[in-house]
Amino acid sequence: MAAQLIKGGEISKQIREEIMKEIEELKEKQGLTPGLATILVGDDPGSKVYVGQKEKACNNLGIYSARTDLPADTSESVLLDLVKKLNDDPKIHGILVQLPLPKHIDAEKVIYAIDPKKDVDCFHPVNVGKLMIGAGVFLPCTPHGIVELLRRSNITTEGKHVVVVGRSNIVGKPMANLMLQPSPGGNATVTICHTGTKDLATFTKMADILVVAVGRPKTITADMVKAGVVVIDVGVNRMGKTPEGKAILAGDVDFDGVQQKAAAITPVPGGVGPMTITMLMKNTVVAAKASISD
Ligand code: NAP
Repeated sequence: MAAQLIKGGEISKQIREEIMKEIEELKEKQGLTPGLATILVGDDPGSKVYVGQKEKACNNLGIYSARTDLPADTSESVLLDLVKKLNDDPKIHGILVQLPLPKHIDAEKVIYAIDPKKDVDCFHPVNVGKLMIGAGVFLPCTPHGIVELLRRSNITTEGKHVVVVGRSNIVGKPMANLMLQPSPGGNATVTICHTGTKDLATFTKMADILVVAVGRPKTITADMVKAGVVVIDVGVNRMGKTPEGKAILAGDVDFDGVQQKAAAITPVPGGVGPMTITMLMKNTVVAAKASISD
């Protein structure tokens, strides 16, 4: 039997409706409009698309959006000054610096310069540390989106074996951490795999829930999973273009094969992808609400 499709597009729409209500209430009761500042340095086409999507999501939801596009040769100090200005701007509750930055800019320094209270990407070490001890105000967007995908698809994690393939700071590590927390939506037994893992399939076959964030198509094939597994495919691999010029995307999982064995699976596109920006919007609202009590 083919697997249940976990439809990120539909779940994301549902969450955006909830966010919109929260924003309307904030505006009515507190006279407060959440604000997100996005900074794009250079003209990487992929980054431009992502920043555009974030701006559009803000406009659709009623979040104030302040976008700054800077040339690729912008100096580190100019960027740091801008971050400082945004840290002090009361209209701005979230600051997002689109990565990657040009090589002459130290991305770590820039992320560390963002006020942790406005770090809606959850990349600042203060927020990463809080996540680790289960005291996170912001949760990192993609892993948080996955938690919501599972929760809203009635897939419980409690007591399950969650295997995460990939240990990046953006996806793999925070994902594993969220699954580990002793709270609803977590409380799982967690294994993390990476390129140093010997015989990956031994571990992926043990997964009740398999999260794959690798960046390589068909890393996981049907012979590497057990029947009834829930598969979350984070990968976005560009496989060329259609004759109409539209990008062809593939995940990290061999969808056609694995869906024959899985109980549920996210498609690419239309699975995890739509959730990431939605959770960024959510974090901006969380930051705006927190600013009231500051
Ligand atoms: P990344 O920083 O390149 O990390 C990839 C991880 O996968 C690394 O930890 C690497 O291990 C591991 N890995 C690579 N090949 C492997 C293999 N054959 N076996 C086991 N582990 C392997 O990538 P990322 O930022 O986490 O992103 C991963 C994918 O998710 C990319 O396709 C990216 O585009 C996508 N993504 C999607 C969203 C979304 O919103 N949908 C958001 C973020 C990322 P080592 O550490 O040992 O090198």
